[in-house]
This record gives sequence, C-alpha cells and structure tokens, in this order.
Amino acid sequence: MNANRRQTAVAVVAVVLVGVLYFCIRPAPVEADSGFRLAMGTFARVVCAAPDANAAETCIKAALAEIHKVDGLMSDYKDDSEISIVNREAFGRAVAVSRPTFEVLRRAVEFSRLSGGAFDITIGPLVDLWRAAGEANRPPTEAELLAARGRVGSDKLILDANNLSVRFLVEKMRLDLGGIAKGYAIDRAAEAMIENGATGGMVDIGGDIRCFGSPAAGRDHWRIGLQDPKYARDEIGPGKPLLVLKLKNTAVATSGGYRRFALVEGKRHSHIIDTRTGQSSERLTSVTIIAPDAVTADALATAVSVLGAEKGLELVEKLPQTEAILIPSDEVETLVKTAGAEAYIK
Ligand code: ADP
Ligand code: MG
Repeated sequence: MNANRRQTAVAVVAVVLVGVLYFCIRPAPVEADSGFRLAMGTFARVVCAAPDANAAETCIKAALAEIHKVDGLMSDYKDDSEISIVNREAFGRAVAVSRPTFEVLRRAVEFSRLSGGAFDITIGPLVDLWRAAGEANRPPTEAELLAARGRVGSDKLILDANNLSVRFLVEKMRLDLGGIAKGYAIDRAAEAMIENGATGGMVDIGGDIRCFGSPAAGRDHWRIGLQDPKYARDEIGPGKPLLVLKLKNTAVATSGGYRRFALVEGKRHSHIIDTRTGQSSERLTSVTIIAPDAVTADALATAVSVLGAEKGLELVEKLPQTEAILIPSDEVETLVKTAGAEAYIK
C-alpha cells in the first residue's frame, strides 16, 4: 500500500468512526407537549420531538400560532374573519381572500366534485336551519328546506384563481368550513413544526390528528386511540377507546353524529347534512378516515358520513393510501373497513 492509499484509508476509517460516534452519543430527541388548549371551538394539542428543549418549544409555539391564524381567517364565529366577510359580501361583489383561505376553498370544491356533492362547504343555510330547529324544538318545514336547498351547491360558488377572489351566484349563501378547516389547520401546524426542526410530531384538533416522524421515547409509531361512540361522553373526556391505531406520517379524522347534534322533539339530528335531501345524515354513527394529509381525512370523513357505507367505501378504495373504518348506526357492534385498514390497527 503506498502512502497516498494509506492516507485515504485512514481518512475513510476516521470519517466512519466519527459517524458511528455521533450516532452513539448524539442527544436523544426531547419531547414537548402543549397540553389541551381551546382552539377552533374545540381542544387542540400539539406534541413535538426535537433535538433539544428549545427547538421543541419553538415548534410548539409555531404550530399553535398556525392553528390560531387559520381559525382567525376561517371561523364563522368571528365577524372579522375572511369567511365571515365573504359570507356577508360575496353576493354583491367578488371578495378577495388570502392564499390560505383560497387554498382551502379550492380543495373543498375538489372534494365536493370527488364525492359527487356529498361534501359541500356551501351547506351553511341548511346548517343554520337545523340549528334553529334545535333551538325552537321543531323540525324545519318543507318550504324552509326548499328555500335553504336553493342556496346550497358548489356550482353557485365562483372561485377566481387569478384574483384569489370569491363570489356567490345566489343571495343568502353561506360557506361553512366546519368539515375541512380543522384538517387544514392541522396540516399547517405540522408543516410549521417540520420547518422549525422537529424530528417527530403530532397535532390533534378535536380528535382529528396528523403525525409525522417518530415520538421521542424510543417508539417508532404514534399510537392513536379511536373513541368508542357508545362511551363518548364529551369532547375531551377519556371515554373508552374502541381500538388503537398505529400511525406514522399519516393523518386520521373522525366524524360522527354521536357528539354534536341538534335535539328536535326528542330526536337527535347529526350536525352533518345530506345536501341532496337537506336532512341530517344518520346512517353511520362514526366514520374514521386515514389519509396522507389532514385536509383529505377531515373532508372525506364528512363526505363518507353523507355517502353511507357502500358508496363511501367505494370512494375511499379508489384513493391511494386512504382507508376507512365505519360504524353503521343500525349495527353499532360492527366495524366496516376498507381492505387496507387492518394494517393500521394495533
Ligand atoms: P366535527 O369534527 O366538528 O365533528 P366534521 O368534520 O364531521 O366536524 O364536519 C361537520 C361539520 O361540517 C358540521 O358541523 C358543518 O359545519 C359542516 N357540514 C355539515 N354537513 C356538511 C356537508 N355535507 N359537507 C360539508 N360540510 C358539512
Ligand atoms: Mg370533516
């Protein structure tokens, strides 16, 4: 071996040794947890694994800031949110919105097309009608349903991608992002953590969740408990897990009439409404969707609630890396799943 070769060999060995040494003594990731915070009308929690405590804290702050930002743009409870301005003014004029809001509207319309109209953010007038029915304790009349349905439909929503503006074709339309905004906030929060150096993380808003990388404590997957609707008492109560999902780089969302509903003359009406009939959608007690991102999981969970088991599964089976776990209302002991769902169940 000549001197040059020997030097190269020594250098290679040194590089390998330094690498092995780094791998052995590199600090284990630190985990930070925001705990439950009020956000978007429910509770949000962010967990982050990062190389050190400072980075983990920065990630948590960035994620929570994203959630509050999305809420501020898209909430219909806030009079000054972009969505509230659109709802007040978009019949009279094209209302310009920010890129994030436009992006959510664009994706919402995509899911509307994909689901044959089962998912539809123009559902607002029907949501209002059923909310009022709950308050007055009397079901809506046929005339009221007909009038509200006339103001619902994504075909009446004009999105202009050049000007990022929104216009309504019919008076008294109302956008309701309740079936998709949480998913979007979750995706943005997860991205904010990754940008700030997180090696793993989980974002939970009202039980809709996205996780990435690994949790800190030497585990490889995130374990997510799915609530049993029979025992779900309230929004954050521990309830009773029906099953545990093992997730990595995936999102999961659950929709169901069991927690949010309007009580009209003693009968529960789910907060999810079938755009085609104007009636609340009651066929599935619980719909869980696993998908690559939280917007997809959130929107599809609402869509499949409306479509029912057969058509819902048919839709989800067509989509890559997307699975469904359903509980039919008339057979609450039965789980109906897509072919690939089992792989996620611990
Ligand atoms: P949650 O997580 O609050 O239970 P979901 O993701 O299940 O929410 O969505 C339900 C919400 O979506 C309703 O409260 C309402 O605001 C809105 N919504 C109701 N029906 C539909 C529909 N057919 N398409 C789109 N959004 C809907
Ligand atoms: Mg949803």
